Amino acid sequence: MIVKTKELKFSKGWVYAPAPESKEHIQLKSRYELFIGGKFVTPVNGKYFDTINPSNEEKIAGIAEASIEDVNRAVTSARTAYEKYWKMTPAKERGKYLFRIARMIQERAREFAVIESMDGGKPIRESRDVDIPLVAAHFFYYAGWADKLEYAFSNRKPRPLGVAGQIIPWNFPLLMAAWKIAPALACGNTVVLKPAETTPLTALKLAELIQESGLPDGVVNIITGAGTTGAALVNHPDVDKIAFTGSTDVGKIIQKATAGTNKKVTLELGGKAANIIFDDAPIDQAVEGIVNGIYFNQGHVCCAGSRLFVQENIYNTVLQKLKDRMETLIVGDPLDKNTDIGAINSKPQLEKINYFIEEGKKEGADMYQSSCPVPEKGYWCRPTLFTNVSQSHRIAKEEIFGPVLAIQTFRTVDEVIEKANNTPYGLSAGVWSDKGSKVFDVGKKLRAGVIWANTFNKFDPSSPFGGYKESGFGREGGVYGLEGYCK
Ligand code: NAP
Ligand code: MG
Repeated sequence: MIVKTKELKFSKGWVYAPAPESKEHIQLKSRYELFIGGKFVTPVNGKYFDTINPSNEEKIAGIAEASIEDVNRAVTSARTAYEKYWKMTPAKERGKYLFRIARMIQERAREFAVIESMDGGKPIRESRDVDIPLVAAHFFYYAGWADKLEYAFSNRKPRPLGVAGQIIPWNFPLLMAAWKIAPALACGNTVVLKPAETTPLTALKLAELIQESGLPDGVVNIITGAGTTGAALVNHPDVDKIAFTGSTDVGKIIQKATAGTNKKVTLELGGKAANIIFDDAPIDQAVEGIVNGIYFNQGHVCCAGSRLFVQENIYNTVLQKLKDRMETLIVGDPLDKNTDIGAINSKPQLEKINYFIEEGKKEGADMYQSSCPVPEKGYWCRPTLFTNVSQSHRIAKEEIFGPVLAIQTFRTVDEVIEKANNTPYGLSAGVWSDKGSKVFDVGKKLRAGVIWANTFNKFDPSSPFGGYKESGFGREGGVYGLEGYCK
């Protein structure tokens, strides 16, 4: 859907003509099967569900729903592939497959980007410039490690675990698949991956690409379905490793289910990141960082900077600049290259965000929303912020996973450290200051796995990512990401 040109007028008086990315070049089937043993197979119970485009609520394709029998088939296929050939495949050959997959993703980057935006709602600028290039980068990065594992673990001989069960969420569908599949294969494991129910398409397109790449059958299996499919994978006795990215609630269920088993587990869970702006920060850059941290990608980011802490003496300036910037943000068609904020991923997610916005108002915080137009059909949320927020407010404590910012002020370093660390989560944080010494001092005291300095939400395959406390354990990315797939 394209927002009419005349509607794209902002307080600053700019008007943008629509610039939609073409859909002509993409290939989509009306129905997708399960990818097991190198083939696309129908689900045992014959059940399918719809994946829809959240920006127009239209069905894109029917998706197979894997039952327990299908999970069994996929795990058996992964086990057979592991025992029969993958275990024996020389490391440099494993690397070659990963390099090939990386190059093929680059060749089809445009198609992947468009499908990612259609299925999940994120702006094409994000999927084209961030998600898909990072997907290829992760495959390249881990391809390089495949035959150098003994250098990653000095004086030790790393061996693969076997079959890895991998469960991923809907906010970075293909990127999360790459984070999981690339290191697992580099270390010599085979995998069964389950994408999220609302965003299965790019993982299934990846399955087609993997089939073409000539990777031996069964080394990667991709099965679609809902939470029960994921639970069946977690509980399968022949799975050696569970890698999960998703909510803290499901992470806790998985930890209980795997306790007392031999399964190795890594959990990448929720977050409520603090973004801290000191009075010596470059304010315009910081405002851009705030916007990037919470509004781009609709706030569907586990490490989103959803709690903003501004030093009291610059609060008014920062707030005014932020509101001015919010007014210029374009919410609408994810395939339009002008769009800053796309569609909320699903109806339940939009309901959750709206629920928290109402909670924030009820608890006495002051809400401000930008005045931009939003399309009639589809799931949308204008960039939103709350001021007059206290530490006890739910909007300051709980993960909303939407474009909703809770702003608080502080006076001293000690005060902001205490406030920022006062959360059950500990995934990420941001610090903005002109002084390197202050950044390092604050960074050391923050209980978060990833800390950005004078930037936000930047990723690289060579840097580890992961949380403290209820944000999970284990690291993905970098040399640390290999540890979770070796013994
Ligand atoms: P979710 O509800 O926990 O779902 C994640 C995945 O688990 C989905 O594939 C889901 O399937 C599946 N699942 C649901 N119930 C399950 C069960 N009982 N056993 C096994 N698998 C189950 O999370 P989400 O709403 O998709 O994603 C948002 C959450 O992910 C946020 O909390 C966010 O912070 C977190 N996240 C964390 C990171 C990180 O690196 N730390 C990165 C991205 C996102 P269905 O889709 O079919 O329900
Ligand atoms: Mg969808």
